[in-house]
Amino acid sequence: MGTMVSVEIAGNSSESLSGIMEKVWEEGERLESVFSRYLPGSEISRINREAGISPVSVSNEMMEVLSRAEDISLKTQGAFDISVGPLMEIWGFFPERKGQVPSEADLADTMARVGWRAIELDRSAETIHFSRPGMEIDLGALAKGYVVDRLVDLLRVEGFESAMVNAGGDIYCLGENPDGRKWRIGVEHPRDEEEILTVLELKDRAVATSGDYRNYFINSRLRYSHIIDPRTGRPGESQVVEVSVMAPDCMTADGLATSMFVMGAEKGIKLLREIEDVDGVIVTEENGKIELHFSYFSAKNKSMQALN
Ligand code: AMP
Ligand code: MG
Repeated sequence: MGTMVSVEIAGNSSESLSGIMEKVWEEGERLESVFSRYLPGSEISRINREAGISPVSVSNEMMEVLSRAEDISLKTQGAFDISVGPLMEIWGFFPERKGQVPSEADLADTMARVGWRAIELDRSAETIHFSRPGMEIDLGALAKGYVVDRLVDLLRVEGFESAMVNAGGDIYCLGENPDGRKWRIGVEHPRDEEEILTVLELKDRAVATSGDYRNYFINSRLRYSHIIDPRTGRPGESQVVEVSVMAPDCMTADGLATSMFVMGAEKGIKLLREIEDVDGVIVTEENGKIELHFSYFSAKNKSMQALN
């Protein structure tokens, strides 16, 4: 899926640990065969080839992810939109990362194939259909979080109580760390990886981070991020450079973190405050000045803001 997954488990015996890693690996490969756009035989590749022609049957778990995508598109008024697939291609982020600025004509043609409302989900028939031809969905903003949730479920079922699963910055902290404390996740400085901006403490909770420093290209000194504003077809122009969102499950955290990039700090924080049991930190950069915006309040965060 174009990412690296790490699973850290605190367990009693090395025997039980080696058994679980095989199961984790198998589940990871299974999920890849559903959600990876890089595999021509995956379920998502088949949807992209066929759903523009006629309705395509989808698995229960694909329907679960597609439904969540629709829900986040509604909540974010379209800032989140999995139909950005064709845009990812013309901006040169997929299938290889070879960054390019498309012509206005190409952009206009491509925009005709984008729009989440044209993704028709039929929950009783269990099908998906694209009502505009040439559409393609891209679950890059959501599927990593879903994979983390599935791997954590597997660990729980196998009886593990303390673990951390990380898929490219989408993290779930199961139970407490081996020291019996909450897991501590540092939010790194978007322009200086040695520096930590703030520390998040989690127990049985997910955090997903999106940053413009993870996947971008530079053209004529302008930085183009891989998160596209579906309303303009261009990389988002909010001053957001990094977002971390915490939620009870990692798929929600993943989708919302990506959305904040497009929505910008003010609207983003407002939405995070509206959604129950979700918190976030949005980092903006304006004229070289880094600023942190929190959706929640605590003594520690206030001192962090004062430092800025
Ligand atoms: P993430 O790394 O979770 O922030 O997801 C970024 C990925 O989501 C990109 O590489 C695209 O595959 C996809 N994407 C880009 N823009 C959007 C958007 N506005 N809504 C949903 N997915 C997007
Ligand atoms: Mg995301």
